Amino acid sequence: RVVLGIESSCDETGVGLVRLATDGTVELLADAVASSVDEHARYGGVVPEIASRAHLAAMAPTMRRALDESGLELSDVDAIAVTAGPGLAGALMVGVAAAKAYASALGVPLYGVNHLGGHVAVDTLEHGPLPDRCLAMLVSGGHSQLLLVEGIAEKITEVGTTIDDAAGEAYDKVARILDLPYPGGPPIDKQAKLGNPKAIAFPRGLTGPRDAKYDFSFSGLKTAVARWVETEQREGREIPVPDVCASFQEAVADVLTAKAVRAARDLDVDTLVISGGVAANSRLSELAAQRCAEAGIALRVPRPRLCTDNGAMIAALGAHVLASGAKPSPLDMPANPGLPVSTIVVQ
Ligand code: ATP
Ligand code: MG
Ligand code: FE
Repeated sequence: RVVLGIESSCDETGVGLVRLATDGTVELLADAVASSVDEHARYGGVVPEIASRAHLAAMAPTMRRALDESGLELSDVDAIAVTAGPGLAGALMVGVAAAKAYASALGVPLYGVNHLGGHVAVDTLEHGPLPDRCLAMLVSGGHSQLLLVEGIAEKITEVGTTIDDAAGEAYDKVARILDLPYPGGPPIDKQAKLGNPKAIAFPRGLTGPRDAKYDFSFSGLKTAVARWVETEQREGREIPVPDVCASFQEAVADVLTAKAVRAARDLDVDTLVISGGVAANSRLSELAAQRCAEAGIALRVPRPRLCTDNGAMIAALGAHVLASGAKPSPLDMPANPGLPVSTIVVQ
């Protein structure tokens, strides 16, 4: 069966197509993405109204591209999955409205699914079925979470989350401090390769003995970078951008991987999936590989294109939900900006 997925929770309009085989495996057929990231660059972050309008303009052309890429027609589609939340209200509404229109026109079931679950499900397109239990670390511009996944269509529980900024948000804010372009992840990653990660001792948030074991905090780190840069500027010294980037990146990768490995051990799971835009970070994947190997944990990281927001991840989750036999979502299903991670499919 062919499942079409629509994503519009943030600044990417995504349409993906997957095929669900009778043995439950899910294969990627097409993945078309249009991003409004350039339109947000001058504001240093996503502007909701701009994102919503961009989704409206991009939806039909992105749908066309996905179908062309797969060589399929709309009449080949057996089910539609859409991001029901969490995300920006106006942005989500565009995708949900489109999905309802396609589902009712084609007479196929609609599944309103969870964006965060999609980030985990996408890994099955690359590395095959997930084990019965695994830990997922989701690190993006809007999220930094540790999730216990006990069946991708059955049960997802939040184990830890950020108490302030998301990891990607910290990258974007630090890039701004250093006059690097938005989004900040790629330029900081690049600069960091030229610098010394031990040059500056930036704080590791929430790693004290009395802190919440699996929660994250990145706002103190961002402030520490800002203060360090201000002091240097005040004293008339030139900012060693590569060293600041390398030291900041080391702090982020250190905390993320240490907490993920600790949670995996405590929860007795032997597989860690890392997804979201920050999963593309070179130091994070390097350190995660090293620490997972030491702890005997299998590490799965989808390729960067699948880590960032896309429609294929929603199609993938939709396919797993379809395979589980879950009821479709009602056609009057609302978009839910605050959809809890435990709600995998809206009923
Ligand atoms: P959501 O949080 O809803 O998934 P988003 O659009 O913010 O939405 P993504 O598109 O998954 O999330 O990821 C974008 C984020 O990833 C940005 O904050 C960006 O700076 C960060 N990022 C991208 N590449 C890298 C990298 N190499 N290193 C670190 N961060 C990166
Ligand atoms: Mg994005
Ligand atoms: Fe996302």
